[in-house]
Amino acid sequence: MATLKAVRGTRDLLPPDTALWNHVEATARAVFARYGFGEIRTPIFEETTLFARGVGEETDIVSKEMYTWEDRGRAEGSSGQSLTLRPENTAGVVRAYIEHKMADTGMLQKLFYIGPQFRRERPQRGRYRQFWQIGAEVLGPAWSGSDSALRDAEVLEMLATFLNELGVKGWKLELNSVGSSTDRPRYLEALREALAPVKHLLCEDNQRRAETNPLRVLDSKEPGDQEIINNLPKIADYLDDASKEHFAQVLAALDACGVPYAINPRLVRGLDYYTRTTFEFTVPDGSGLGTQNALLGGGRYDGLSEMLGGPKAPGIGFAIGEDRLILTLQAQAGEATAKKLDAFIAPMGVAQNALALALAQELRRAGLSVEVGDGSFRLKKSFDAADKLARQMIILGEDEAASGVLTVKNFNKGEQTKVARAELVEALRG
Ligand code: AMP
Repeated sequence: MATLKAVRGTRDLLPPDTALWNHVEATARAVFARYGFGEIRTPIFEETTLFARGVGEETDIVSKEMYTWEDRGRAEGSSGQSLTLRPENTAGVVRAYIEHKMADTGMLQKLFYIGPQFRRERPQRGRYRQFWQIGAEVLGPAWSGSDSALRDAEVLEMLATFLNELGVKGWKLELNSVGSSTDRPRYLEALREALAPVKHLLCEDNQRRAETNPLRVLDSKEPGDQEIINNLPKIADYLDDASKEHFAQVLAALDACGVPYAINPRLVRGLDYYTRTTFEFTVPDGSGLGTQNALLGGGRYDGLSEMLGGPKAPGIGFAIGEDRLILTLQAQAGEATAKKLDAFIAPMGVAQNALALALAQELRRAGLSVEVGDGSFRLKKSFDAADKLARQMIILGEDEAASGVLTVKNFNKGEQTKVARAELVEALRG
């Protein structure tokens, strides 16, 4: 029989790696809480229309990467519904914002999420078909201050703090402004004009993008097209005064907080809903990501709520690629090693098994991490297992059971001592 494997592009996360995943998520929860964020959990699948409208029909995500199916109606003849595994979480959060009438509170909403996303991309290191994102959104009616440049800078400063607390080395923040919905058409017009005479020189993908979505040409990493792309008009020259002022305020606030950044005029990002500030954090080569060096990305989306049929609700958000963050931390710190347990109890005969389990119960209740061997093990086997799993081994034989004095072997120190049962917890903590 053919052996069953995890589907291409998906993977199992196993210990000891999962300890690092939990540490990253705990750090995110702790840092985000200090900035007033609360957690939101939206469904893993939504109506396909949500992503078609929210992310944009012309994006790679919607046009070719979504897992979509027709959900059959229960009753014969009842119509089906097109559903999609979420390829990102911003559209879902904004749908929830509208559905739960969060605008009615008049307050700024600060929401974060942690969860899997699904895109049918070509799998490689740092790119999966099921991957995890840690993201956050700040949105609300304009009078809640949701369109203020202060919010953009606050989110960026929070991300810098988060990466620093995790100990990510060498991260770089690149940002840009892609203007408002009024700047965009003027820029697109200029871009189309500049592309018209050179379009035939571009690669096939970029020729198509030049037609359907010229902004995407700027994203392209195709080596042969770089010279043409570098000479295309820059969006900064097409921003109206309000967008320019907004961007200047973001930069001034970042300066005030001492967050380093670089402006990248080509950073337009892959999703259609972005307005004004867009950004990406990357890590240097050699950080374990290969060519996928974008750790996280995000931006402002002042028109998204209205695009989804909701009230005007300017907002800004980001999504961190958790898989990539973990790969980076592992590459920068060396391979993850399992944290050792405090103690391994080795019963010296099957008759001591019950006592061993009772002792483990007592130690675990005292907060120690403990594994129990088995009375059928030879002493050598107990030693080998204990050495792999734990810092210390407790020998529990007939004598020890009778006298209440236990033998404790400390593997780090290489010494063996006798410890009275009453002092055991203290001694093991050591
Ligand atoms: P996006 O939602 O496309 O703006 O992506 C935000 C972040 O999610 C990226 O910077 C990546 O770190 C991560 N990401 C996007 N797609 C994938 C994928 N297929 N596999 C792993 N991480 C991804």
